Amino acid sequence: MGSITLQKVSKVFGEAKVIPSIDLDIQDGEFVVFVGPSGCGKSTLLRLIAGLEDVSGGKIVIDGRDATEKAPSERGLAMVFQSYALYPHMSVRNNIAFPLKMANMDKAEIDRKVTDAARVLNLTDYLERKPRQLSGGQRQRVAIGRAIVRQPSAFLFDEPLSNLDAALRVNMRLEISELHQQLKTTMVYVTHDQVEAMTMADKIVVLNRGNIEQVGSPLELYSRPRNLFVAGFIGSPK
Ligand code: ADP
Ligand code: MG
Repeated sequence: MGSITLQKVSKVFGEAKVIPSIDLDIQDGEFVVFVGPSGCGKSTLLRLIAGLEDVSGGKIVIDGRDATEKAPSERGLAMVFQSYALYPHMSVRNNIAFPLKMANMDKAEIDRKVTDAARVLNLTDYLERKPRQLSGGQRQRVAIGRAIVRQPSAFLFDEPLSNLDAALRVNMRLEISELHQQLKTTMVYVTHDQVEAMTMADKIVVLNRGNIEQVGSPLELYSRPRNLFVAGFIGSPK
């Protein structure tokens, strides 16, 4: 569970070929970071994987099955949004439970899953609070909790830390890395921040104008950048 393969995936918006053609293999359990400048197509690629956008061409295979035509809810993936996507009027407990209630899971089962997720995320003492009574980091953890309870085969993050201050970002980076070590679930993480990419990724995918410039480990990209774009972006001494 948790492998994602893109085969000649493309996306056109009107006249704009935002993703010309991408091939990519994501292995089960990998922490993969899509990095690149603003507007290069990171969010679009993530949304194609999630099924929030339809591909213009190509194929998306998830866990060995063709998922290209599947609805987002049938792909077994969970998208983690920025923390402001929480419901302000609901308690932390109900925010985390929301996707399970939508799926008509029974109450005892929901309670058990919410309790487990809260333990993993250090939110046990905050379950009855409202989002506004939490710190920014705690709110981000609630957003992650909402994804965890669905036990997805992969988590998809789109710049989840971009509205947090610098110190908190460093903390949350560590927390998400620890969560990955604990859950061992595939994570696909979008950022325009090279430091986030270099410190969190098993595998970095460098994007430029909808094309992959290079795929490799942080060390490979740093020590053997394929071209000046990668070198410049990663900050290699080339
Ligand atoms: P990134 O996340 O790397 O900043 P995006 O994937 O959001 O980049 O956008 C890539 C390009 O696609 C941009 O030029 C953007 O304007 C364009 N784009 C994204 N979504 C749409 C859309 N729904 N309709 C038209 N153009 C879009
Ligand atoms: Mg984006």
